[in-house]
Amino acid sequence: MNRKQPDSREILRAHGIPASVQRIAILDWVRSVSSHPSAEAVFQALREEIPTLSRTTVYSTLHLFCEKGIVLQVPCNDSEGMRFDGDLRPHAHFRCEQCGEIFDFACASHEFSRQFEVPDGFTVRSSQVALTGLCPHCAATAPACKAHA
Ligand SMILES: [Zn+2]
Ligand SMILES: [Zn+2]
Repeated sequence: MNRKQPDSREILRAHGIPASVQRIAILDWVRSVSSHPSAEAVFQALREEIPTLSRTTVYSTLHLFCEKGIVLQVPCNDSEGMRFDGDLRPHAHFRCEQCGEIFDFACASHEFSRQFEVPDGFTVRSSQVALTGLCPHCAATAPACKAHA
């Protein structure tokens, strides 16, 4: 992972969150993966390393991180519910309709909302771009092209 960002302890301190061992581990792990894990996936990944970790702690910690803006929520409609992203650089999400994996597409700026006509009286505070389709792997294995049907 080549992310030139401050370490997790530093980020927690900067946001006024007491840096417990569990919080550091959760933030470290979420920032180190690009899989956009669900809360359940975070729990499964860390339960061996931190035997005292509970699902409730993982959920509430991720919720806190999102509230503070140090982790992003990636809405998606799998059964697993919300997924999380520790990469705060501007990027769009591409979700493969077949395998459900979420891929990052880099982009130059967070200001996606400039692309839209924002009606008077609305203040845009954040934006996310969600694209869907087939990843290269699934496209290669998809049944013959439906476009000609
Ligand atoms: Zn796929
Ligand atoms: Zn992402």
